[in-house]
Amino acid sequence: MGRSLRIGSIRGVPIRLHWSFPLLVVLVILPTGGKTTARLFVDDLVWIAALFVCIVIHELSHSFVARHRGFAVRDIVLLPIGGVSEISGLPGAPADELAIAIAGPLASVALALILALVGYSTGAAMWPPGLFAGAIASRLMWANLLLAGFNLLPAIPMDGGRVLRALLARKRSDLRATALAVRIGRFMGLVMVLVGLRYDLWLCVIGLFVLVGAGGEKQAAVVRTAVGGLKVSDVMVLDPTTLEVSFPLSVVAPFLEASPGRVLPVVDHGRYVGLIAADRLPGPPGALLVADATDRAAPALTPGDPLYPVAVECFSASRRRAAAVLEDGRVVGVIYAPHLDAALRRATGSVGAPSIRH
Ligand SMILES: [Zn+2]
Repeated sequence: MGRSLRIGSIRGVPIRLHWSFPLLVVLVILPTGGKTTARLFVDDLVWIAALFVCIVIHELSHSFVARHRGFAVRDIVLLPIGGVSEISGLPGAPADELAIAIAGPLASVALALILALVGYSTGAAMWPPGLFAGAIASRLMWANLLLAGFNLLPAIPMDGGRVLRALLARKRSDLRATALAVRIGRFMGLVMVLVGLRYDLWLCVIGLFVLVGAGGEKQAAVVRTAVGGLKVSDVMVLDPTTLEVSFPLSVVAPFLEASPGRVLPVVDHGRYVGLIAADRLPGPPGALLVADATDRAAPALTPGDPLYPVAVECFSASRRRAAAVLEDGRVVGVIYAPHLDAALRRATGSVGAPSIRH
């Protein structure tokens, strides 16, 4: 998702700020028409910060439920229009998608209830509804209710659209359920753009986000169906040679250099630690050991992982050309990106294979 800046991490989930995020500050400040005083400027910044704390809590709820159900969470990206949780392997089973999608709006409703209690106990006026005037507890409460309600609109890729797809997929194939959810999502997106053009620029931007995102969901479902049951075990190279970490690099370097593109798994007393690649060797080997040239951040998959989306996302996220294949911590193979590409192209034919970003 374009360029973004890591601003921190919460319980292992990196939080990133998208490059377009500063636009939000400009767009919130500009409409005051030059009447901005330092005081108002600070008020606006505090308001945006408080709002985005609520959005991060909403996104973390998606992420934690996803992780609890065995999905890998890459990160949370904050955009001017809200947050996006990047989770590998979605949609998964309908029950998983439903639980992950509903977690965010439920968290926003819970936050609104807490803010209502805070408002009530401090005597703040919680009525009339408003985002830009009134006590901060009231403004934030209404913002969270708006966040929950808006996200529950049945417009895939928004939460409500995912809930809809999950419900539809209980009695239909993934492809049919997605196609139906996408049709409804596109209609909702179009309505948002048209209403937004008349009344509110943000709604227009979110409508465009839905229209583009819905198309992506459809394409992904078509590919998932075409690639069907293809797994890592179908394209991996079996029983690769492994190297012990304590091996002198000078002994293996000539062999590696003679086979460009090749990678070998590195083990420590049989336990996998990383990959060594012919094209990532650190200069002349000298007295270095295999351990010194091992890429310990290289990705690893299991033989049963689906090629799409799990293996594709794994390669895209790690930007490597090969991954180790492990079973119970033991190396059973290596999978190369070109083999994966070729298998996906064969399976998808005219549909068009998903691209791996290397
Ligand atoms: Zn959400």
